[in-house]
Amino acid sequence: MKFYSTNGKSPSVSFKEAVIKSLPKDRGLYFPESIPQLSTDFINTLSDKSIAEIGFEVLREFTSEDIPESKLQEILEEALNFEIPAVEVEKNIYSLELYHGPTYAFKDVGARFLARCLGYFNETENKEVTILVATSGDTGGAVASGFYNVPGVNVVILYPSGKVSDLQEKQLTTLGGNIEAIEVKGTFDDCQAMVKQAFLDEDINQKLNLSSANSINIARWLPQSIYYYEGIKQLDSEKVVVAVPSGNYGNITAGMLAKKMGLKVHRFIAGSNANDVVPRYLLNGLYDPKPTIPTYSNAMDVSDPSNHPRMLALHDQQFESITGHIQGYTLTDKQTLDVMKSCVEQTNYVLDPHGAIGYASLKAGLNDGETGIFLETAHYSKFLSTVEKAFGNPVMLPAFVEDLMKRKKVAHLIDNDYNQFKSYLLD
Ligand SMILES: *Cc1c(COP(=O)(O)O)cnc(C)c1O
Repeated sequence: MKFYSTNGKSPSVSFKEAVIKSLPKDRGLYFPESIPQLSTDFINTLSDKSIAEIGFEVLREFTSEDIPESKLQEILEEALNFEIPAVEVEKNIYSLELYHGPTYAFKDVGARFLARCLGYFNETENKEVTILVATSGDTGGAVASGFYNVPGVNVVILYPSGKVSDLQEKQLTTLGGNIEAIEVKGTFDDCQAMVKQAFLDEDINQKLNLSSANSINIARWLPQSIYYYEGIKQLDSEKVVVAVPSGNYGNITAGMLAKKMGLKVHRFIAGSNANDVVPRYLLNGLYDPKPTIPTYSNAMDVSDPSNHPRMLALHDQQFESITGHIQGYTLTDKQTLDVMKSCVEQTNYVLDPHGAIGYASLKAGLNDGETGIFLETAHYSKFLSTVEKAFGNPVMLPAFVEDLMKRKKVAHLIDNDYNQFKSYLLD
């Protein structure tokens, strides 16, 4: 399987090359040249299979040229070594808890898979790799944890100062070793722009062997489709609607890929915060990014989602085809807090602000006869101050995060200035 650039100007590449390069030179995104179709037999027997077995079937054709099947199995067993339960919150509404990995957010899935793929490619390459990653909160922690102590790999994480939660910041800045954190006085989009520029910068590429771990990397994106199968296998329903709290649109487009490959998803709902470029687009076909607005669901504070071209590619560039599979829904910060409070009062289920947007979007869009599942993308303890604001009283931090909160932050503070970033990297 080859991967082409969605901008059509860079040559198609193998899985390995797409993973290592991350971004084609023409600034498109890598996308598979064909979408494999899974057998009906496989789709109908999901419940007999483990998550790693599902992952193997789903990813096999994408990776077969570069990763032997036994290695792929091993990578998947290591990467997906935590449970992803679908928990009933109320009648017909399930939460797919993606936060049981080491950094308590769904990004562990993609980051752990990518780290192991790169580690494997690196064994044979024998060249040191520098991973550059911009994070709006959760990516950085997942990547840091996924790559921590992987030989031959250094990780540089850029995050927007003051715009990630305390727990997220600790996850980014306390590992040390091969992990470095850069705190940027700017937004996530600023961080992302610097990373993109660095990839195209000859001076930097001469000195460093760069790779990326953002959701744009194909090895982060593809494995995210696995847990859609895992979620649906746990439900007993033919008409499943999946709601995904969305920011950069990697997660939901991975779900749309699963549907294209044969998974029975009735339709998708994209939940958004005030950064609502996609819900607006879904109404009128006009893709019109506005400046980023900071919100309580900060991992979704993305004004110009990188994965939009993949959404188009999945639907042959047809707007009508997209709107046949997905609808959008937007929540304000106030609505997000209200939903977190009403949900815990009525069901005892504690939502994080992102999951709350998934849950509310699902409730708003679910019809009679349908079963809904929303992706609970992070554990609430990552957003404790928002949970406390919503509930109006202090909430205890679970014991498993207390240790982390005591560790000392180490980060390099820079302005929103590419040259400062560049000289840091070249130093
Ligand atoms: C990254 C993230 C999202 C958004 O996912 P995208 O793939 O960027 O759309 C939602 N919730 C949480 C907790 C996240 O970390």
